[in-house]
Amino acid sequence: MRMLVRFNTDKVKEAVTANVILETGATINILSALLNEKGGEMLLEVPDAKAEEVRESFKRRGVEIEDRKYVEILRERCVNCGLCYSLCPVNAIQLDTKNYEINLTKELCIGCFKCLDACPVEAIVKIK
Ligand code: SF4
Ligand code: SF4
Repeated sequence: MRMLVRFNTDKVKEAVTANVILETGATINILSALLNEKGGEMLLEVPDAKAEEVRESFKRRGVEIEDRKYVEILRERCVNCGLCYSLCPVNAIQLDTKNYEINLTKELCIGCFKCLDACPVEAIVKIK
């Protein structure tokens, strides 16, 4: 499960993530992080079995956390215009040059929703 963790100014100075890992024993993978002295956010991959424990551990430390939503492409609506493909910042959407259809690699998606906003036929939807 992916979680988006938001740190405020006070919390960026603490070793919050390290303490959560020590407390829960969860293997947490940091997929992306944007932090400075004013705060920021990290996108984490957390084992499903440890998700609740990790969520509670962050909350106890005063850190805001949300489950990250991702996207799915509704094939029946897609007209293969390519808009989503050109906007995806992590190449989670690829163009299959054999049939000119787009393919989504969900594992790469960081949930920015640029593709969803751009799609002219609402063929992209949010999923958990
Ligand atoms: S939500 Fe963002 S990262 Fe995910 S497929 Fe769409 S553009 Fe790419
Ligand atoms: S923007 Fe929408 S219609 Fe165009 S390729 Fe992507 S999913 Fe298909």
